[in-house]
Amino acid sequence: MSLRGLLDLGRAAAGLPAFLRHPLGLAAAGAAVAAGVRRREAAFLESVERLIFAAPCSPLARLLRWAGCEAGDLRRMVAADGVEAALARLRAAGVWVSAEELRGRAPLRRSGLTLELAPRDFDNPLAAGRIAGATSGSTGSALPVRYSWPFLAGEAAHELLLLASHGLGDAPVALWLPGPPGIAGLHNLLVHAKLGRPPRRWLSPSPAPAAGSGLPYHADRGWRVMRHLLPRLGPAPEWMPPERAAEVARWLAESPRPAVLKCFAGAAMRVAGAAAAAGLDLSRHLVLAGGEPLTAERRDFLARAGLRVYARYAATETGFVAGACPAGENGGDMHLYADRLAVIATEQGALAFTSLSLAAPKVLLNVELGDHGLLRQQPCDCALGREGLVWRVAEVHSPAKIALEGIKVGEVDFAELVAGVVRELGGGADDFQIWLGDGANGGARPTVVLSPQARIEPAALRDGLRRRLPALAGGGALAAALWCDAGALAVERLPLRLGPDAKMRRLVRLQRSEPAARAGSDPPPPARPLLPGGAGGG
Ligand SMILES: [Zn+2]
Repeated sequence: MSLRGLLDLGRAAAGLPAFLRHPLGLAAAGAAVAAGVRRREAAFLESVERLIFAAPCSPLARLLRWAGCEAGDLRRMVAADGVEAALARLRAAGVWVSAEELRGRAPLRRSGLTLELAPRDFDNPLAAGRIAGATSGSTGSALPVRYSWPFLAGEAAHELLLLASHGLGDAPVALWLPGPPGIAGLHNLLVHAKLGRPPRRWLSPSPAPAAGSGLPYHADRGWRVMRHLLPRLGPAPEWMPPERAAEVARWLAESPRPAVLKCFAGAAMRVAGAAAAAGLDLSRHLVLAGGEPLTAERRDFLARAGLRVYARYAATETGFVAGACPAGENGGDMHLYADRLAVIATEQGALAFTSLSLAAPKVLLNVELGDHGLLRQQPCDCALGREGLVWRVAEVHSPAKIALEGIKVGEVDFAELVAGVVRELGGGADDFQIWLGDGANGGARPTVVLSPQARIEPAALRDGLRRRLPALAGGGALAAALWCDAGALAVERLPLRLGPDAKMRRLVRLQRSEPAARAGSDPPPPARPLLPGGAGGG
């Protein structure tokens, strides 16, 4: 482990006892969120002044200077029209950052301004005593992100209100999220530890890292030592691979009280399938699913299986973003955590995030993360709405495009289409992936990969795609002709890939210049999973 890594772990560990000393209760959580809502205009101005204007070399300070915006201008705009209107005016003036720019994959270019960026340029200069995690990223490789203890305490307040809004504030909780060094499981565990009620079980879809694997091994060992010293942290991760979903379903079924399972949306599908196969009734329990969108197809399946699944929205750069209202439609209508974040949507629906907290891991000002969604304001009488969280976000998805032979279609649409054909042919969700390499025209070039275990012939899948593609909105007919008839779309049988966080995703982004699909070559490098809806989630 690097010296920096050791120092970080040591500093983070030093803050833990204080973090755990005073568990957060419901009244204090509500008061904290309501106070945040009341002072969000002041918090916005304070964040911009102390985290951006006070760091004149930071990319956001340079962008504001380029736009001719000074602190006084911002104060006037916020006083006149509020935070969101001020942000919309800033965006119109060119003050925004794309997901590619945030992650350092493209320089930020505006007329007369070019900034070469690295992800650390957006780190919060004030956050200290931090716990580091690696994100799998919405569209790429691992980025280190550091959460401070005050930040995690704020997340705990949101989480408690979310559980309370569903009537499950003191329910037993299990996590089915990856163990260290991934951030999603640890993040959720620490939040529950702050509530004084650690999860009953931490089921990890990834095995404990092997000795000799470097940082992952040390992170795992370090965590096991820490929780031994501080039992209030809760359980150590137990390996529970995806194919053992029936055991997770049984844990829920056997819980004497209504229980909560936190996992990724794909894992919720497996639990629902396993429960239906075993005749288990899970309708008393709640699944909070993040990481991937709850598409209409998924919601139908879950509803048929009798599983109550509600969405959570989190991204590594922001932490928790939103949690689903119990009264909302389809389990996907979420209260935005607007005491700590301001979000505006572009005309195309792209969500742009602004951090309102001095404890935020990243300094964000109209920063896009690659997600689209619908925003609105609506009062509500649930535990989240009562504290003033009136902003809602729904239909969160990633509209990234697949491109081949000059034809672009939506990644999520294409993935749904392939899933439909695979199902028609008698296959399941674990039988295929779509691997995306870099296309010449800025889109991702797809290869459809069938698992060696899938009882589907590649030729049959190719024929099925040819039949179904013309129905795909926005380019489907041309794609059918140019991708299938001209033989451009590859369908191959290869072992499927897990992401670095051990998640099995439908969409896997390949490293630049990595051959898309060549059987019999060297062992594949780690895949870069694509994660609509952000990474910190679960
Ligand atoms: Zn509500």
